Amino acid sequence: MTPESIPIPAAEATLFELSRPGRRGVEPPEPGSGIPELAECLGENDLRREAPALPELAEASAVRHYTRLSSLNMSIDTNFYPLGSCTMKYNPRINEVAAGNPGFSQAHPLYEAREIQGYLELFSRLEKMLAEIGGLPHISLQPAAGAHGELTALMMIKARCRERGELERDVVLIPDSAHGTNPSSCTIAGFKTRNIDSGEDGAIDIESLREALGPDVAAMMITNPNTLGIFESRIGEISSLLHEAGSLLYMDGANMNAILGITRPGDFGVDVMHYNLHKTMSTPHGGGGPGAGPIAVTDELEPYLPVPRIVHSEGGFELCADRPLSIGKVRTFFGNSGILVRAYAYLRAHGPGELRGVSEHAVLNANYIRRRLEEAYHLPYETPCMHEVVFTARNQKATGIRALDIAKRLIDMGYHPPTIYFPLVVHEALMIEPTETETQETLDRFCDAMLQIAREAEENPELLKAAPVNQPVKRLDEVNAIKTPILTCPCDEPVSD
Ligand SMILES: *Cc1c(COP(=O)(O)O)cnc(C)c1O
Repeated sequence: MTPESIPIPAAEATLFELSRPGRRGVEPPEPGSGIPELAECLGENDLRREAPALPELAEASAVRHYTRLSSLNMSIDTNFYPLGSCTMKYNPRINEVAAGNPGFSQAHPLYEAREIQGYLELFSRLEKMLAEIGGLPHISLQPAAGAHGELTALMMIKARCRERGELERDVVLIPDSAHGTNPSSCTIAGFKTRNIDSGEDGAIDIESLREALGPDVAAMMITNPNTLGIFESRIGEISSLLHEAGSLLYMDGANMNAILGITRPGDFGVDVMHYNLHKTMSTPHGGGGPGAGPIAVTDELEPYLPVPRIVHSEGGFELCADRPLSIGKVRTFFGNSGILVRAYAYLRAHGPGELRGVSEHAVLNANYIRRRLEEAYHLPYETPCMHEVVFTARNQKATGIRALDIAKRLIDMGYHPPTIYFPLVVHEALMIEPTETETQETLDRFCDAMLQIAREAEENPELLKAAPVNQPVKRLDEVNAIKTPILTCPCDEPVSD
């Protein structure tokens, strides 16, 4: 489809423009109809003197207005969404049916354990599955996001240092390709961070690691495969180096979608990791949540896990909070329980064999895109990629085109843009993660669009610089938006009392 063939959506009038004086959506009951008049309940000073300046329109107009606006959103249900690092896979509807089951969705968080045995059994089973997938025996489902899992784990590492009288260990090593949440979590947990360089191949530079290791290092945080979409093949060596130095290895598990059923962090020396259930285990996400970031740990770290822990005894499932070394609670109740039900449904629907297939297809799809686009777009690393592929806009630089322009032009063509300018170590990065849930036809159409954009970059660069051109919201003037922001709408009236 050429971009020109997509109809240009008409600009949507605001509710104030649709407003007509005196028109009503809802008629409030007449005075005297049995409902006490507000004026009788409120004091004189609390009463408005003038009607509020609200738009006046029929209910249907309001509903249609919002429905039209909602259809302007790009989502995984409407468009291909190759947003690198986010694993925007299709979320099977059966997960929603499971989570919507009244037994789950209407359970009050204050119920006693004996009243939610089904929930606790599901949590307990999910813990076992995640333990098996990660090769780490103990799980806490409490953290509410990946970053929260990081923080929880770092608090546990801190507690372990304290317990062993090793408070001089106050540094965490972080590769330069890491996600920004890694250093943030360290800082919040009271650690300092020390940077580790990536080598020419995009993997951790072992020499840089050796130099940074010392008696002050509590742990290293690694993402594997890393944010460049490259598997750290020397991970065994890295974990041995850390353990010999008395440090722990944390794995940011946001990229588990690449290795499910193929390899296990526990087997390659990881001591503690988090999962992003809202990425790997298929839960709608974006817009900030809700998510779930369970952590998995070794026997050694188990005593520090958050409470309560779910324990199974003859009488059924119970919640145990009597654990002296625990870091305490990190989230109200049991975490984002609805997300946990979705993840459980997803894992049950797939089973172990198919789960491995998820990763194999995710990796295949990314490499398919890599091969189809490698002539047109510069690849910063030679290494074949895992579940996502990082290109750069270097080939397009001659005509002044940047990664941002390519991303904006994709919106015209009906695609959510890939992640751009991340990882920070890659200049003008374009990070594409197709996931396993896309068909070859979709990938081909996307690659065709990317190739067309590469041609446009040579033949008509001004078009790219103006993109998006066929959307209701055009290119923002970012400089002006910062320097002379317009923060009020013309209809705003000064607030008076
Ligand atoms: C998404 C992501 C995170 C953060 O996870 P949230 O659930 O968004 O808090 C951390 N690290 C990496 C590599 C990620 O991709």
